[in-house]
Amino acid sequence: MGLAVNPHLLEDLTRHRQVLLVSGTNGKTTTAAMLRQAWGPDVAGNHTGANMPQGHVAALVESESPRVVLEVDEAYLGEAVARTSPRGIVLLNLSRDQLDRAAEVRLLAERWRHDLAGRRGVTANANDPLVVFAAETSFDVQWVQVPTPWTKDAFACAHCTRPLHFVDDGDWWCECGFRRPQHCRARIDDDGMWVGDELVDLSLRLPGQMNRSNALMALCALQGVGVEAHEGARRLEELTSVEGRYRVYDWRGRRIRLVLAKNPAGFGEALRSVSHEESVWISINARLADGRDPSWLYDIDVTSLSGRSVMCSGDRCLDLATRLTYAGVGADVVEDPSHLSHGEGDVCVVANYTAFREWRHRLETS
Ligand SMILES: [Zn+2]
Repeated sequence: MGLAVNPHLLEDLTRHRQVLLVSGTNGKTTTAAMLRQAWGPDVAGNHTGANMPQGHVAALVESESPRVVLEVDEAYLGEAVARTSPRGIVLLNLSRDQLDRAAEVRLLAERWRHDLAGRRGVTANANDPLVVFAAETSFDVQWVQVPTPWTKDAFACAHCTRPLHFVDDGDWWCECGFRRPQHCRARIDDDGMWVGDELVDLSLRLPGQMNRSNALMALCALQGVGVEAHEGARRLEELTSVEGRYRVYDWRGRRIRLVLAKNPAGFGEALRSVSHEESVWISINARLADGRDPSWLYDIDVTSLSGRSVMCSGDRCLDLATRLTYAGVGADVVEDPSHLSHGEGDVCVVANYTAFREWRHRLETS
């Protein structure tokens, strides 16, 4: 509404404020929360995840803090960059997501490349070829090498379409000369997390390799607004949950870990985090916010579930069970988990967007 009355509202609301933007297919909400936490104490932002221009306006009206972190939907990055004059732009990754309504990921990379041309303050994932293609037109990019297991959307070179070559440590190149940037500002390797020559000691309480990657991207970007890496790391250690994500619940006698995953790359990461002691429950909906087309279930790498049995729930539990059965994974369909009785053993619940909200409500209220 506000934008219809005043199309320059975003410019007006961000004038004289320091703005950091974060975008990418996976990890936006968590990385934005990390940026706020480590930049804190008083940082404005769209912490509910409303990441399109209306959500940005709402967040900026709500707080007058001179420091702002905005999570930005991939399709709106160009607009956000043009209107908020950001001090920093964090580019995490690009992969397929919501096939029925999102632009093909290659086209998104083209748009970012155009919208970011000549910009400063970009911090970008050097291990994701599509992100590198998108960011290489910017000035003085801070490249960060972070583990990026999903590269299936970048198998062809964005410049010449020849196949890219990947090696285990995350390096990649093409015969045409397009390759991983050689001079990186920060990296994660076997020794730990590096920013420049400094080994950053970080005991993150959020689980998973992806969150360590998100943390390093955040710490690197915050240097641009004067936060030293070790100082930011101390503050990040206080973060235990982001909008109910990564929370652990006691429910009917069981310890339940609830994980949000919305697309093949995110699911792969979630399934890798499951321990052998945990049962796996997966819940899939295909409503408007999830994307109506659940065919992406076939892109998930489920090999880590081989020989196990998964409890399937959600509106599309039968699609999920069929997909798992084809992969040789056992599937038990439970149409309404509310009726589950007390049980034993730890559980990891992986759910997509609206299914995650239902699980969160269930775990908090019953
Ligand atoms: Zn090439």
